[in-house]
Amino acid sequence: MRIVLLGAPGSGKGTQAARLREALGVAHVSTGDLLRAQVAAGTELGRAAKAVMEAGQLVSDEIVLGMLEARLGEPDAAAGFILDGYPRNVAQARALDALLARLGRPLDHVIQLDVDEALLFDRLAGRAAAEGRRDDNPETVRQRLRVYAEQTAPVIDFYAARGALKRVDGVGTIDEVLDRIMAALGKTAVRAG
Ligand code: ADP
Repeated sequence: MRIVLLGAPGSGKGTQAARLREALGVAHVSTGDLLRAQVAAGTELGRAAKAVMEAGQLVSDEIVLGMLEARLGEPDAAAGFILDGYPRNVAQARALDALLARLGRPLDHVIQLDVDEALLFDRLAGRAAAEGRRDDNPETVRQRLRVYAEQTAPVIDFYAARGALKRVDGVGTIDEVLDRIMAALGKTAVRAG
């Protein structure tokens, strides 16, 4: 199963993608995680991305697409994938279409996690305290939410226009939201306990 998970910073995409990976046995592909790994490893790509990420801006489409294509070629992605943090603008959505068409692996589902903006800000402030991510300080958070509204929200319209978008309420417990996503995928959530 090949899924795009859309949602604002703080909407819970990463958390839900990790759970979906377990539930569905597909790869969790987070472009944010891939970029942070490059930064941590001090690669040339990481050095180019670091300041851009800390400013709350988007890393260049070309860099991210190359990284994504390499990741989708890894063995765990053969069974399918959940894209988390990609596409983040309409150019990336078009590039993804072209890439997946070339690979003969089109998307099965596009899910939008919907969370009110005021709640997003609170969640990101909480995460700043808990995880210490350098881009979770209030000023960068505001910038990331602005970039989301300007560049990523149009991606929702892009998929909605072709009738491919399913909207899921992202407010609730992690399990509740997971159940809603699984229902939108036409699956029943199975978990221990
Ligand atoms: P969040 O969704 O919580 O903002 P991510 O971990 O997805 O966090 O992304 C963190 C940062 O990494 C973004 O603010 C951006 O600078 C960069 N980034 C992640 N994915 C992309 C992408 N697809 N295109 C460009 N930049 C990206």
